[in-house]
Amino acid sequence: MEREKSFGTRCVHAGEGHNPFGAHATPIYQTSTFVFESAEQAAAIFSGQPGYRYIRSPPNTPTHAAFVEKICSLEGGKAGLAFSSGMAAETALFLSLLESGDHLLSTNIIYGGTYGLISSLLTKFGIEVSFVDTTDQGQVKANMRENTRMVFLETPANPTMAVSDIGEIGRIAREAGAITAVDNTFATPYFQQPLRLGADVVVESCTKYIGGHGDLLGGVAVGSNELIQSMKRPALLAGGTMGTHEAWLCLRGLKTLHLRMARHAENAMQLALFLESHPKVQKVNYPGLACHPQHLLAGRQMSGWGGMLSFEIKGGVEAGRRLMNNLRLCSLAVSLGSVDTLVEHPSSMTHAVMPRETRERLGISDGLVRVSVGIEDAEDVLADFERGLEMV
Ligand SMILES: *Cc1c(COP(=O)(O)O)cnc(C)c1O
Repeated sequence: MEREKSFGTRCVHAGEGHNPFGAHATPIYQTSTFVFESAEQAAAIFSGQPGYRYIRSPPNTPTHAAFVEKICSLEGGKAGLAFSSGMAAETALFLSLLESGDHLLSTNIIYGGTYGLISSLLTKFGIEVSFVDTTDQGQVKANMRENTRMVFLETPANPTMAVSDIGEIGRIAREAGAITAVDNTFATPYFQQPLRLGADVVVESCTKYIGGHGDLLGGVAVGSNELIQSMKRPALLAGGTMGTHEAWLCLRGLKTLHLRMARHAENAMQLALFLESHPKVQKVNYPGLACHPQHLLAGRQMSGWGGMLSFEIKGGVEAGRRLMNNLRLCSLAVSLGSVDTLVEHPSSMTHAVMPRETRERLGISDGLVRVSVGIEDAEDVLADFERGLEMV
């Protein structure tokens, strides 16, 4: 068997080169529908033979197929589906694999949109949900129920960077007959490959590091043939398909994922160390710091620490506001994973949907500031924070 190519080579090459005219770059197949050669071929494709038919129906278009092949190669999955957003991918995941009466166990520290989807939409359809501290396997075990069908992990978690043990929790779930789904948006397959650690399915917001340039909305799900097969029809019916241009942008974004992620992480480490030693900073949450509560676990299950961090500034919400208003290079914006550095305030922005008591219990304090560290030259990012903190 041919040796599997290394990660960066797969970022560049996987999925490319399937086009009839020899175009070097994968073309954008900007078409809604496909013309069949014959009525017999049409009938065959509609009865399940592989082939393109309509853009909403996976494999959508050859541009989508190339993107899905590339991300599958990077995540180590057999099959995947491309969605119009990370939330559409999660919605299709939950609607496909859960039904009324099932129980979903989820990480308690989680992307605000996911929290809203699970807590207010799924519960409308008779799905039982619980939010559990998944950094503690004892709590995962204690909260598994007879009807638990899925364990949903976000690790590292937004915005506190808490890390859960994918392999161990995957084993607990499997023994209970549940599948494990992991939101891999923060780490990306460059730093963490949940399927190789024992998860059954990965979902990711492509809006973030996969696209990588802050100019698109997209999502993806990757897993085994069987699992993705069971999601195909619900995905088609729910209708949240990725657009072709977005598929092409994601395909292009992934070609530099390895370079971007290495630089994001290098800069994040420098910023984390700078903030940790700053007298106006109370606490820094970054898996790469020895003080992070799951530093050792992160070191085992990730190949690097990622580009996201959060920190608590002394003086709470007012101090945080002054800092954010005084940054010049870094932008005040939600979203993450872009080439430039973005700063946001979870308790008034991304996590405002969580009740205050819940936020405080989870460590999402009013003074917490989240940073998506970009790939600028680190000294300029640090200088911006240094100046901004002086004004606090
Ligand atoms: C952004 C994000 C999502 C949702 O993705 P969209 O593309 O915005 O729909 C889900 N999970 C995490 C961790 C995210 O950061």
